[in-house]
Amino acid sequence: MECVFCKIYENGDGVVIKKQDHFVIFDKFPASLGHMLVIPSKHYRNLLQTPQPTIDSMMATAKEIGKTFREKLDADGIKVVTNIERPAGQMIMHTHIHVIPRYLPHKHPNFEPHKEMTELERERMHKLIIKAIGD
Ligand SMILES: [Zn+2]
Repeated sequence: MECVFCKIYENGDGVVIKKQDHFVIFDKFPASLGHMLVIPSKHYRNLLQTPQPTIDSMMATAKEIGKTFREKLDADGIKVVTNIERPAGQMIMHTHIHVIPRYLPHKHPNFEPHKEMTELERERMHKLIIKAIGD
């Protein structure tokens, strides 16, 4: 069975941050500008199957990303969420934590949620995140 996230991890395509036991990518269909996913490198179905030390390090990264959203993107709020199983909205059956910046309505008025990011947006966000977090 083919897993999208395992595949991304294997070929490294689109990986923004790589840590010891997890990695970070941009959500392909972001709910807001900067929407990122923190994903364990090993395949676990969801949070309930993911070892606690891995969850801890993933959450530390989610927090760093959140800080970056506040400081560099002027996010007004941040949503950190993980969906467990389809009734909760889990679409890819490999654990992932969403880190979603939220902005007051006047910011990024042209942003269209859940539309694929442009190359330019992706590049800009990539630079920003790498500069702020690195590894
Ligand atoms: Zn997987």
